[in-house]
Amino acid sequence: MKCPIIFPNESDRLAALTEYGLDDEQSIRSLDPVVHIASRMFDMPVSAVNMIGNDHVFFAASVGVGDVNMSRDVSFCAHAINQQHVMVVPDASKDERFHDNPLVTGPTNVRFYAGVPLFSPEGLALGALCVIDDKPHLDFTKDDEQRLIDLAKMASDRLELRRIEVSTERGRPNFDIYAGSSATPVIWFDKEGKILEWNKAAAESHGYSLEDKSHLTFDLLLPERERTDFRHLIEQAATEGSLDHISIPAEVSGLRKDGSEFRFGFALFGWRDGNSMKFEAVLKDLTLQQREEEELREQANRDVLTGLANRGRFYRCVEETLTRPAPAAVLMIDLDGFKDVNDTLGHTLGDGILQEVANRLLNLAEPYDVVARIGGDEFAVLLADVTDPQIAMQLANTMINHINTPMDVDGHVVRVAASCGVALSPSQGQEALELVGNADLALFKAKRSGRGRTFLFVPALRMEAMARRLYGLELHRALDEGEFLLFYQPQVNLTDGSLTGAEALLRWHHPERGLLVPAAFLPALEGGPLAATVGSWILDEACAQAAFWRRNGAPSFRIGVNLSGAQFRVGDLADQVIKTLERHGLPPEALELEVTENIVLDNDDVVLGILQRLHDYGLSIAFDDFGTGYASLSLLKTYPLTRIKIDQSFVRGMLTSTRDASVIRAILDMARSFDLETIAEGIETEEAHNYLSNELCDEGQGYLFGKPMPARQFELLFNIGASSTPRKKLRA
Ligand code: C2E
Ligand code: MG
Ligand code: MG
Repeated sequence: MKCPIIFPNESDRLAALTEYGLDDEQSIRSLDPVVHIASRMFDMPVSAVNMIGNDHVFFAASVGVGDVNMSRDVSFCAHAINQQHVMVVPDASKDERFHDNPLVTGPTNVRFYAGVPLFSPEGLALGALCVIDDKPHLDFTKDDEQRLIDLAKMASDRLELRRIEVSTERGRPNFDIYAGSSATPVIWFDKEGKILEWNKAAAESHGYSLEDKSHLTFDLLLPERERTDFRHLIEQAATEGSLDHISIPAEVSGLRKDGSEFRFGFALFGWRDGNSMKFEAVLKDLTLQQREEEELREQANRDVLTGLANRGRFYRCVEETLTRPAPAAVLMIDLDGFKDVNDTLGHTLGDGILQEVANRLLNLAEPYDVVARIGGDEFAVLLADVTDPQIAMQLANTMINHINTPMDVDGHVVRVAASCGVALSPSQGQEALELVGNADLALFKAKRSGRGRTFLFVPALRMEAMARRLYGLELHRALDEGEFLLFYQPQVNLTDGSLTGAEALLRWHHPERGLLVPAAFLPALEGGPLAATVGSWILDEACAQAAFWRRNGAPSFRIGVNLSGAQFRVGDLADQVIKTLERHGLPPEALELEVTENIVLDNDDVVLGILQRLHDYGLSIAFDDFGTGYASLSLLKTYPLTRIKIDQSFVRGMLTSTRDASVIRAILDMARSFDLETIAEGIETEEAHNYLSNELCDEGQGYLFGKPMPARQFELLFNIGASSTPRKKLRA
């Protein structure tokens, strides 16, 4: 358990708490709207104003709080009051200060916390305004922090008002000491309404100067129509000697010196002075507060950068539409490779792009549609009254195409692609969460099938998602029990048909489902925590096999190993690869690493550095599935590659489609000009083989030369391995 944080001025701090009437630990009603706004604004289940007492904390206001441990040494807020501005804990389970905190490990299950300290005018931290979620939020932005700080100011103002009220109730100090410099307007007056004291804030809120009090009565600060009622109230109090049984309006109209009116919140106190009564009015300018609240409410619905609806607002709109009930389509749109654009072109330009995308979406939407930015580079559109999937898809495609046309941002011409997932209600979801979730699954599918795609939700996607989750649980076992294995697919020289090496391809020997190909489980593997571990195993296993074959019949054998993005993000991949080669006694040219555009785009500089080191070390680096991505060409210039693997889709089409044939020719020309070697994937026929060898493609891979197969079968087919006889050529 962590030690409580104690401040040097702890005793002052505790004394200050009593000035707010908080010693009886009652909640403060005026703080309720603040926590409600905070909870809605950030779409989080819990928000509270926490006061930090001697050994425990208590709520001055809260929403969504269940039964919690209130001891001070587990409180997050007790930490937050130690900060000057804001404390954000994106994922408490990963935070060394809190990961073993009972609020995190126990049933309250706290994951996200953001809190801003609330200070007394003397600068003593009394407590904190916080928002809490049982889910981590890695996307709490600087804007969000600023909004929480704004809300904390609102809470501090209300606390200050409370302090004044409390001290009024407790006796009459000297006015100047007590309220002279307070920002809250305070007026003392007698039973005739004559103003005895007021502070600058009170005078100025009515357009007067301090000195004007000598010729003013309280009546004159109210519009004429309210004066009679007010007189009655004061007379009645003066007669009864108390305000206890008199109903006092919480809000009244004020009259400024220039005749204009305004509304203010009103608290009235009275005390006996000798045998007469004196009164104190504490005012709160509501126009300001109303504007503040309206602005905050508005902000709670709006994305600051683009002015679009934000995530919370979007969900609420979908909910409202579906409960009416009315048909609707939800489009989830995600920019492709935006992180890369942002990192290379800078965040200012990135912001400009997001704003332009927002404009384009708004231009295409009808006024009653809702366009929202729901995450960094994620947008969502709610199309009201669309029932026809074809129309929804057409609109989605129009939006994607429109986003994709070049845009001028700050004098830079940039082009961004986007993917889109579509789901319709009622057929594909009758509740907001389900509908948006289904559109999200469709988006996931669109992104997986390449860039710039749109995809309409089909129920099978749910099954796939379930399979992903299911496999997610089983992958640990697969790794522990050795259920993964590698198949090898031959790669041959297209000129003389000789075997040059093989690509190692992962398979999962599933105890119930049989042999699974990567398409069935790779998404689950790569989306989970085991990707890098399995990646290391593949590398080691493939190198061991290559070393064995090089020693037994295929001395110049080269093994191709596919990498996944996760391998670049943990540890030092370059180091690991070099050590693996050394362990198996392999020279660098025996290994070819295959990377895809997604890996390169998702990890940018990190990947570049690692690949550069490996390239310098002498390793081959092949660009897999070349031609399917949209940035392939520009990447050729940046990345240290040695080979292009022409994607099988072009090979399949090249004999019938002139477009595919010309893509193949262009890729081969380009490879030559960049001095890169080439290998074509998916060669299934002799015609394809001949065609590519005439086009001077160096190597080939495909069912014609052999499907991916277990090592033993590979050995028999190519006459290598322990029982090999001197190798003959595969094809002349
Ligand atoms: P890839 O790297 O492009 O692998 C080539 C895929 O094309 C293999 O599919 C292979 O079986 C298939 N293929 C090869 N020749 C032909 C042909 O003539 N006709 C047709 N129709 N298909 C052919 P596979 O084994 O299902 O692998 C799919 C993808 O999964 C791979 O595409 C690769 O991206 C990924 N993958 C496979 N093994 C690994 C691995 O060990 N690690 C990682 N990170 N990814 C892997
Ligand atoms: Mg590959
Ligand atoms: Mg490939």
